[in-house]
Amino acid sequence: MASDSAALERVLAGLDAEQQRVVTAPAGPVCVLAGAGTGKTRAITHRIAYRSLRGQIRPEHVLAVTFTARAAGELRDRLAKLGVPGVQARTFHAAAARQLRYFAPRLLDGRPLPEVVETKARFVTQAAAKVGLRSADRDLARDLASEIEWAKATLVQPEGYAEAAARAGREPPLEAETVAAVYAEYERVKSAAGVMDFEDLLRGAIWAIEEHPDVAAQIRAQYRHFVVDEYQDVNPVQQRLLEAWLGQRRDITVVGDASQTIYSFTGASSRYLLEFPRRYPDAVVVRLTRDYRSTPEVVELANTVISASRGPEARVRLALTGQRPSGPPPIVRTFPDEPAEAAAVAAQCATLVAQGRPPSQIAVLFRTNAQSAIYEEALADAGVPYVVRGAERFFDRPEVRRAMTAIRAAVASTDPAVPLPEAVIGALRAVGWHPDQPASGGAARESWEALAALVRLADDFVAASEAAESAGVAGASPGSWGTPLERFHAELLRRAAAQHVPTLEGVTLASLHAAKGLEWDVVFLVGLVDGTIPVSYARTLANVEEERRLLYVGITRAREVLWLSWAAARSPGGRQRRPCRFLPMLDPSFTRRTPAAVGETGGKRGRSVRGLRMMSCRVCGTTLTDGVARKLGRCVDCPSDIDEELYDRLRRWRARVAGEQRVPAYVVFTDATLTALAERRPERTEELVAIPGIGPRKLEQYGDAVLALIQGADPDDL
Ligand code: ATP
Ligand code: MG
Repeated sequence: MASDSAALERVLAGLDAEQQRVVTAPAGPVCVLAGAGTGKTRAITHRIAYRSLRGQIRPEHVLAVTFTARAAGELRDRLAKLGVPGVQARTFHAAAARQLRYFAPRLLDGRPLPEVVETKARFVTQAAAKVGLRSADRDLARDLASEIEWAKATLVQPEGYAEAAARAGREPPLEAETVAAVYAEYERVKSAAGVMDFEDLLRGAIWAIEEHPDVAAQIRAQYRHFVVDEYQDVNPVQQRLLEAWLGQRRDITVVGDASQTIYSFTGASSRYLLEFPRRYPDAVVVRLTRDYRSTPEVVELANTVISASRGPEARVRLALTGQRPSGPPPIVRTFPDEPAEAAAVAAQCATLVAQGRPPSQIAVLFRTNAQSAIYEEALADAGVPYVVRGAERFFDRPEVRRAMTAIRAAVASTDPAVPLPEAVIGALRAVGWHPDQPASGGAARESWEALAALVRLADDFVAASEAAESAGVAGASPGSWGTPLERFHAELLRRAAAQHVPTLEGVTLASLHAAKGLEWDVVFLVGLVDGTIPVSYARTLANVEEERRLLYVGITRAREVLWLSWAAARSPGGRQRRPCRFLPMLDPSFTRRTPAAVGETGGKRGRSVRGLRMMSCRVCGTTLTDGVARKLGRCVDCPSDIDEELYDRLRRWRARVAGEQRVPAYVVFTDATLTALAERRPERTEELVAIPGIGPRKLEQYGDAVLALIQGADPDDL
């Protein structure tokens, strides 16, 4: 394999010193812990390219695991452009499915792999009926399915469900024993129907490797170097599969950002990422803090929102510093109702597109998929093309299927000397496509955009073939057989099999979950209403914190322009709602309450204004002026996340001490101080003195006892 120095230079160029450390680290465990937009995905992509070009690894021995099929496709594209095609980039599910399918004839005595069902709803409803639940409505069925999914993802069997759910602080929709019974029955009806669910795929792949040494040997001979992107959102079953793949190997690179953990409700945990350096004490650990994606204005807001978080990521959080030139401040808008909000967003999109901004560089992001419809309608009315993420499988669209048939048919009749993009356009003319955009919007425009995307893919395919040729990566060049059109058709078939969808020229409509890892010049974060984000069923502190991280993910998708909006009512004249609590600047009264608004929230505690120490609500970030609120460290009406059990022990201890000293209880500590202690759970002396009501004297008298209680001591033992 040629280690072409120009290609190598290209791989190292455009990386800072820390990123280069990731790229050039020797074989072995590597862990990148870094915030959004710091170039984690870029670093792992370049690491694979660098090592391939240096001849240290062969691209076909790499398994890169990404979170979505789209991310896998982008990673492959980026590698192809760096001259390294042929790397397997897949989601855990896709990789497991592929391996199981391959080995099924051997493992299942010639029987094919059972069909994989995408939703659990049907079998959950049947199972619920079998255990005697008379009517499992859609919401209950969905909640039961979530519990089953969580249990399976965390490797919990029906008989262990009740205990595990209690330990994890789940809030099952029914008694835990009933959920366990539905879970057991679900497994029975599902296997009677001869199908598998997504978790079965992962478990099947684990079983294939763990129980079959020949399968393990073959897989481990194929995959020798592992890379996992978005590792903060790995769940126990995925982790076990990763370990099965690895066997005794140690060549693994993981990258992630604990502040972007947004799937813990399904069993994912940032623990694997955070504990990686402990599991591999010799790991090269790199932290990145330069945000190359977003303007400093966007970065500042992102830092503000996440700095108030109290999730496990708080331990490792590093503030980001924006590297891009300054841009416009985030736009904050309040609307009377949702149709007005959607119309304004669509009008703004139309203006941007008219000014020359490519629609594919704009995204409208929301918390729940149900919010999509109103934006689809508003954008269609405004004549703006759009694409709904994950709504339709690109390669299943009838016009795309017809186009692929036409390309196949054109192979024989096309002169191989005709440049590929031209040949593709020629083939598409046969199905009525023309390079000029149609004037209308709607469905016709969507079809046109889909085929235009195929033409752009042809351009990319040419560029990737040229890059591979100039890098001289042995055996990886796609350009070694057939005519260009024939090879392009094969590439389309491969993409269709991998659901590797091309970028469509339209404004992206996506949920915040689906936006993970992606970026756009302009991002509209819409529907920022309390009850939507945080979603109403996020009741525990852990769930609320996950919602905050979700918002952080949304904010950090924007490169340049960020729009934040909410509507006071769903429909005109409807019930009035409150804006998202994580963004106090959305509240129209906020500027009056706190003159410096956005700039003063979070991250800047401890400054003195008019002799009063500046303090921000740790739930929503609002500056606190009210005395009680300042004692609590949060707005009075922000949700309390008190540890009831600790509060109870503190009270018992206080009663005993007050009794011994013959003073009223409040002389020891007031209720507000106990509340603050049970909410904030300080672990060190410095944190203790930040609690209102604990001065030097109290610290000396009671500091050790309080810290011991927080550590779990029994009041009677102190
Ligand atoms: P996320 O946490 O959202 O997944 P990330 O850490 O994976 O983000 P990337 O997507 O790799 O970040 O990079 C963010 C953006 O910054 C991309 O547009 C990337 O091309 C760009 N970028 C990364 N590193 C550099 C660099 N050293 N110089 C210039 N641009 C960079
Ligand atoms: Mg990334």
